[in-house]
Amino acid sequence: MKASAYSYGQSELLSNLGIEHQSIINFSTTNDNELVKCYGCSKDVKAWVTYFIANDLTRHAVVFIIDDFLFESDRDDSSEESEIEDVYICKYISLLHEFGHVKDFINQQHIRYADNKPSVDLVRSEAFADNFALRKMKNSSEPLVKYARKVMAKSVIKRKHENDFCRQVYMETIKLFNEEKLIQWAES
Ligand SMILES: [Zn+2]
Repeated sequence: MKASAYSYGQSELLSNLGIEHQSIINFSTTNDNELVKCYGCSKDVKAWVTYFIANDLTRHAVVFIIDDFLFESDRDDSSEESEIEDVYICKYISLLHEFGHVKDFINQQHIRYADNKPSVDLVRSEAFADNFALRKMKNSSEPLVKYARKVMAKSVIKRKHENDFCRQVYMETIKLFNEEKLIQWAES
């Protein structure tokens, strides 16, 4: 999907891609309004998203990862090749994170649709998705996956200083994932 496609409305985007849906599930948040204002403020969360749709009795998750997005590398030896690699690494991390939201949706844990009023705990669902992604990479010895977890660990740690929302997500994440391990990956 090209970046420009992101400017479509949710329903328009799904229809353009031929994804049948009777409705898109809208979730109300269980978090404090002031806190939620910061949700999505982060520069690095604009390129991927998961929508949840309904058809008759079935519910589906649709994950979008934008095709070309801007990525600022902090490598010292940044080259065209390493920039392309970094974009793929980011897409990989994003996909794992979004799969975390899908898992949460299936579990009906922090993203709930079964009630009359679908609801999401944004802080806990973001922490759940980050934890899901970090754990998927935990036992790998693949150099690229090890690099991906370093990139993700750095980003997770950096975001805790961004705003109150991100700080709360971080505090939830380290309840689920060992903080020492996170720091160790970030500094590896
Ligand atoms: Zn997320």
